[in-house]
Amino acid sequence: MNKTIIVSNRLPLQVKIENNTLNIKPSVGGLATGLKSVHEEGNGIWIGWSGLTEEELNKDLSNQVNKEVTKAKCATVPLTQDDVDNFYFGFSNKTLWPLFHYFMEYTEFDNDQWEAYKTVNQKFADVVLDNIEDGDTVWVHDYQLLLLPKLIKDKKPNTTIGFFLHIPYPSYEIFRTFPWREELLHGMLGADLLGFHTYDYERHFLSSVKRILRLDVQFNEISYLDRVVKVDSFPMGIDYKKFHNAALSHLNQSNTEKSELQKRLDDHIQAGPDTKLILSIDRMDYTKGIPNRIRAFEYFLNKYPQFKEKVRLVMLAVPSRSDVPQYQKLKRETDELVGRVNGEFSTVSWTPIWYFYRSMPFDNLIDLYTSSQIALITPVRDGMNLVAKEYVATRVNQDGVLILSEMAGASKEMNEALLINPNNFEQLADTLKHAIEMPAEEQSKRIKILQKRLQRYSVEKWAEEFMKSLNDTKKIGKTIV
Ligand code: UDP
Repeated sequence: MNKTIIVSNRLPLQVKIENNTLNIKPSVGGLATGLKSVHEEGNGIWIGWSGLTEEELNKDLSNQVNKEVTKAKCATVPLTQDDVDNFYFGFSNKTLWPLFHYFMEYTEFDNDQWEAYKTVNQKFADVVLDNIEDGDTVWVHDYQLLLLPKLIKDKKPNTTIGFFLHIPYPSYEIFRTFPWREELLHGMLGADLLGFHTYDYERHFLSSVKRILRLDVQFNEISYLDRVVKVDSFPMGIDYKKFHNAALSHLNQSNTEKSELQKRLDDHIQAGPDTKLILSIDRMDYTKGIPNRIRAFEYFLNKYPQFKEKVRLVMLAVPSRSDVPQYQKLKRETDELVGRVNGEFSTVSWTPIWYFYRSMPFDNLIDLYTSSQIALITPVRDGMNLVAKEYVATRVNQDGVLILSEMAGASKEMNEALLINPNNFEQLADTLKHAIEMPAEEQSKRIKILQKRLQRYSVEKWAEEFMKSLNDTKKIGKTIV
């Protein structure tokens, strides 16, 4: 029986060595949840890097990892420290990530890192080819593996290949600056179906294909060699039930069950009838618009001083890629801005910004989501933004307001949020005021529509729709041949 092979940079497992013994746990991320049923079906297998380099693993540990990983229906791609430095921290995060997020000034074009990117994509291909049988289906994920579809297709033309990009696809004018643009596009076109979060990313990709490779594009189909490649948008959802149910059980918590964080959040909310928490959660990444958000909040406090001592911005920034210089610079800038705003406005009983630079366990995230009257999500560029969706899913009393950047892919499906341009402080300040003063009925009307949509297009549904569309390409392929 034919099977489906999922390929992503990292396996859906957390693999650690503690005191020379191996500790393997399934990871709990959205992607793992969404792909669960695809992975579990038949002889399905998930291929990716374990997170441990070859240097960290001796022969014995390596055998143990392989044994455990096989039990979890996975297979590892062995990567050296050099691979990880040049392919992951290097080319993926210093070239593709900034370029695809429109940060051209941060983009490095380094030939050695490009070579490493090609080498590692080939390493992934080798493991896939070791595990593949004629007629299998492969679903490749994300910007680290853009060359993989072609590497598989060239060796195994009878394989049905899907590719999904989890970050934005930039406009042609940005993409054309990429020195190895033809090779990258040919790499992607090894797939039979290419999926993006939004229609705009899909359009940008088609435009690059038309203008750079001069291929014939009809609506969303590309004639390529002897095949037709289909391109479509599949906005990724969340595990709606998980967030909604966690928030429901939160409602019934007794005082003794509450976390320390929850008690502090309650203190603020109960301090007065119109005290409110404004929440932001993101990885500390320059695409997330964190400095802009702080400056806009400062602008808001100056423009509408009546809200001083009433509202508080609770900002959770999760450490990310902290050995890349631009991320270190962003951390310094954020620390300084938070210090400046808190220094300027704090009173003995009030600090305008609560700033956490760490990651939080799931239960604390639910504390934050359920206690905040407003979510302020202001990326300057974001493929999707799941935090916006998680916030809405936890609003079990149908109250709360989502302020969302129109530069986030999620904004395309969340019209009932208050959509803003994150560079327009005037608009941001006025929207914050609007959100704080929004009547309960209006909040409920907006949240209900958003919830209904999120519930319907969950992450499971996203995976199902992609697989359905990928299977349909088999039929198209047959009629053309
Ligand atoms: N998240 C987390 N721990 C934290 C803060 C956030 O696991 O301390 C999760 C959050 O629940 C969300 C994800 O990280 O599912 C962030 O996804 P998003 O699409 O918003 O941004 P990305 O980090 O993928 O760019």
